[in-house]
Amino acid sequence: MFDKVLIANRGEIALRILRACKELGIATVAVHSTADADAMHVKLADESVCIGPPAPRDSYLNIPSIIAACEITGADAVHPGYGFLSENARFAEVLEKHKIAFIGPTSEHIRTMGDKIEAKRTAKALGIPVVPGSEGGITDDVEAKRIAAGIGYPVLVKAAAGGGGRGMKVARTEDDLVEALQTARTEAKAAFGDDAVYLEKYLEKPRHIEIQVLGDGQGDAIHLVERDCSLQRRHQKVWEEGPSPALNTEARDRIGGIVANAMKKLGYRGAGTIEFLYENGEFYFIEMNTRIQVEHPVTEMITGIDLVNEQIKVAAGAGLSVKQSDVKVNGHAIECRVNAEHPATFRPSPGLVSYFHPPGGLGVRVDSAVYQGYRIPPNYDSLVAKLIVHGRTRNECLMRLRRALDEFVVDGIETTLPLFRTLVRNAEIQDGLYDIHWLEKFLKAGGMDEPA
Ligand code: ADP
Repeated sequence: MFDKVLIANRGEIALRILRACKELGIATVAVHSTADADAMHVKLADESVCIGPPAPRDSYLNIPSIIAACEITGADAVHPGYGFLSENARFAEVLEKHKIAFIGPTSEHIRTMGDKIEAKRTAKALGIPVVPGSEGGITDDVEAKRIAAGIGYPVLVKAAAGGGGRGMKVARTEDDLVEALQTARTEAKAAFGDDAVYLEKYLEKPRHIEIQVLGDGQGDAIHLVERDCSLQRRHQKVWEEGPSPALNTEARDRIGGIVANAMKKLGYRGAGTIEFLYENGEFYFIEMNTRIQVEHPVTEMITGIDLVNEQIKVAAGAGLSVKQSDVKVNGHAIECRVNAEHPATFRPSPGLVSYFHPPGGLGVRVDSAVYQGYRIPPNYDSLVAKLIVHGRTRNECLMRLRRALDEFVVDGIETTLPLFRTLVRNAEIQDGLYDIHWLEKFLKAGGMDEPA
């Protein structure tokens, strides 16, 4: 096992990793920017190193600084969390060269899955069903029109280097397509420095369903059922739950089996998520994330398996401590991403948290790095807390979530708590009847506007 893990991240996920390390008896090193000197992960780690100024490219994305921090502290492994360097193949490679373990998959698997065209090709070859679309990148408008006609409109233009929903454009007609290609290329170039795009069938009313996997890197892999992340705003997840209200046991076992077999064939190491759109009983692969995800606690709450603990053990070569037959769905869990944003306009609201009272009680988990008197810096994402609630049934979970949301007090900044208080009382949400467009439509229809 590792002696000392450096956590190359901040916020709630840095804390989450720190907790797993402490329970395994591993010493921890926090890294932080100058904006994060007072952050909770710095206070709780055994050691900390300042790695640069506030801008992420100068600190949390600064590979030489992080390697130097490993060498100064003698850390023998790095956990990248999510975001920042977690899906940066070069970072994994540099660590490999320095003989420091990367708690994640091989740099080769990160690279393959990081290119969405390559990822789709690989998924298809591994027997995973994919969204119908172009076989590779599209460079020529005439070819694009021919392929789009073959797929059938509407089609979606997507960036090969995509992430965070950027570089994605819908085309409903051939006329739309030329413009969509142009806009998607420009957006992709600006966001990722790569203007490669591809085409996919645009699904009108799918749900976003993703399968959690764990692999030991030696040919064994298991799946830990699904999370339903259909409630999204601007392609960003807002509310995640598991199991999905839309799947039955047959569908769950079928897709889980396909994914676990694919990961065995790939020899995948660590935690990963295979994301699908699900429509009319069919699954369509969209991408794979080769890291721990924001919403991983949903899976932990219904399976009782500590995913970060498993990531660390696998990276240390200790193998998986759970078998497929150990994975049982127990009850239901829902996660709400509480952001420092106005609940209707989503305008960011960083600043001083003057009062912070998280909810508690049976089945309630709060993953947060915020404390009373903490000043949320404007430089990073706006996540304040993840509220994860577990119940024996979905109904019990919803009732408990309603009660937990009512207990939660955050003063000094705006948060999205009022949005969740509204959602948990909505009849369609209660019935589990929503697709990936539900939340946008609800907001557009004035669902969160102040009463006149
Ligand atoms: P990113 O990497 O930018 O997050 P994804 O491929 O994961 O992009 O897609 C993000 C979201 O965009 C999905 O959860 C879904 O809401 C929407 N989306 C992606 N592909 C399609 C598609 N073919 N049809 C309809 N919606 C899609």
